[in-house]
Amino acid sequence: MVRGPPETLIDTASRRNSVRAGIQDMTPTTFEALPLAAPLHRVLRELEYSTPSPIQAQAIPLLLDGRDLLGCAQTGTGKTASFALPILHSLHENPRQAKAKSARTLVLTPTRELAVQVAKSFATYGKHVRFRQTMIYGGVGQNPQISAMRGGVDVLVATPGRLLDLIDQRHVDLSGVEFFVLDEVDRMLDMGFLRDVKKIVALLPAKRQSLFFSATLAPSIVQLAESILHNPARVTIQPETTTAERIEQKVCFVTKEAKRPLLEQLLADQTKAEAARLTIVFSRTKHGANKLAKSLCTAGFQADAIHGNKSQAQREKALERFRKGLTPVLVATDVAARGVDVKDVGLVVNYDLPNEPEAYVHRIGRTGRAGADGLSVSFCSDEELDYLRDIEKIIRMSVPVWTGHDHHDAGLAERYARGGRGAPPKKVQQGRGGSRNHGGGNATGGHQASANSGGRGRNGRRPSHSGR
Ligand code: AMP
Repeated sequence: MVRGPPETLIDTASRRNSVRAGIQDMTPTTFEALPLAAPLHRVLRELEYSTPSPIQAQAIPLLLDGRDLLGCAQTGTGKTASFALPILHSLHENPRQAKAKSARTLVLTPTRELAVQVAKSFATYGKHVRFRQTMIYGGVGQNPQISAMRGGVDVLVATPGRLLDLIDQRHVDLSGVEFFVLDEVDRMLDMGFLRDVKKIVALLPAKRQSLFFSATLAPSIVQLAESILHNPARVTIQPETTTAERIEQKVCFVTKEAKRPLLEQLLADQTKAEAARLTIVFSRTKHGANKLAKSLCTAGFQADAIHGNKSQAQREKALERFRKGLTPVLVATDVAARGVDVKDVGLVVNYDLPNEPEAYVHRIGRTGRAGADGLSVSFCSDEELDYLRDIEKIIRMSVPVWTGHDHHDAGLAERYARGGRGAPPKKVQQGRGGSRNHGGGNATGGHQASANSGGRGRNGRRPSHSGR
């Protein structure tokens, strides 16, 4: 599978900034075009990242050039790689023993969870780079953190409070920091870390490269950025919004074997519906996409596949036929579906659940475009329960279960609902999205919403399904 980058909309301000920064013409569209060290290209190939996300495309060249950066971007835009890759590149190109108790890179995050996530990303992207990293955060004993810092590290990911504690106790020294990253500054300030951040910044050497990321750029944040950054380049990225309100979501618990007949049932219903609309079916692999498209054709559906192994011309042709309704079913991998902006997609089927929960949001966003409503149906088999849990966490709602088909695996649904492996935390189940819907009905043609009161969608709205 070739993974596409998280999709974002670069706003016009950012385009203007890119032009101002003189990078418009050199914004790379492939990772190969980026002058990153070989171990990083290798890991990107292994991760199957094919295309830099907008923030990566814009920020990486600037950072490799040694610029300070003011990034307006949030999680899900690929911002971690946008700073981790150039930092790892520098660590690889200039290997040096860090000073005792010091760190060559300091990443400050507002929470322990984000610190863990960022450190994990460094470990992933730096898999083939020799570097040492550690984390410092509160809520756990400090001794292991002190010993990890003793010999110095290349990357330290820390939260402000505990870091200052250890600095006060002289277990950490910031005088050797070459790269300083402040991540999620807006949250940092919301959590009252402004004074701590200022204290930490005062301990950094003047000669350093500083990166500053925030989801919003309120005046107080810009003011702080100005006091920390030196002649920064500005990059602004707006993430695609989370699951649109008008997209109705369903999950079907099924065995792997039942996925194909269930898809055929759905497509048959879709064809019978009053106003048949286009369908995108997501497959995790290129091979799977090909196989599925073929078998659908054999079963009498007009289907085609698009994925990274197809040439640009083939993809465009397939898209054109899809758009015109000549092949109303398009089987796609995540990367191929990137940028597919077809207005009349009424149904998105997640034949395989994505292992990156953000991809779910992007996938279902292929429907419900241009003010139309849309339906997303996700197939979840035994081994995908954890993916579903992750998805429900990021969309902050439970996806209603659709049982009105011949392939419902009640055992699996029950295991998930009872909080077995993969079940979302209770808080999420009872959250904004309402409770789990065990309703039946026909997913593509005016089905009953639910057999219980749990059939309400987000904001308590009962899922409506008119016009399909
Ligand atoms: P972040 O915004 O850094 O939290 O990244 C969001 C998600 O996108 C992470 O799961 C990354 O693994 C993934 N990701 C980052 N960059 C790319 C890329 N260029 N292509 C595909 N996936 C990516």
